Amino acid sequence: MAGGWARDGAVNEQIDASIQDELARMKTRRAPQGDSLTHCADCEEPIPEARRRAIPGVKLCIECQQERDSAYQARGGINRRGSKDSQLK
Ligand SMILES: [Zn+2]
Repeated sequence: MAGGWARDGAVNEQIDASIQDELARMKTRRAPQGDSLTHCADCEEPIPEARRRAIPGVKLCIECQQERDSAYQARGGINRRGSKDSQLK
């Protein structure tokens, strides 16, 4: 049956594709995410060198990172960030 043949080929292609995806994802995870900043992108406080070494591509100081983390957990944090951003404009 020709139909069965075609389906086998498609499955193999899918497996290849998922392996490629996985490899691409691993490479992305391992690669540094841009340069670490010496100063926080949010409040411009200096970021400690130990933190920059621990987190490749770090963009935020500990305080701003914690603020951002808690903003994801509590909706009130997002509102606070929104008002802070409008003050900057
Ligand atoms: Zn900061």
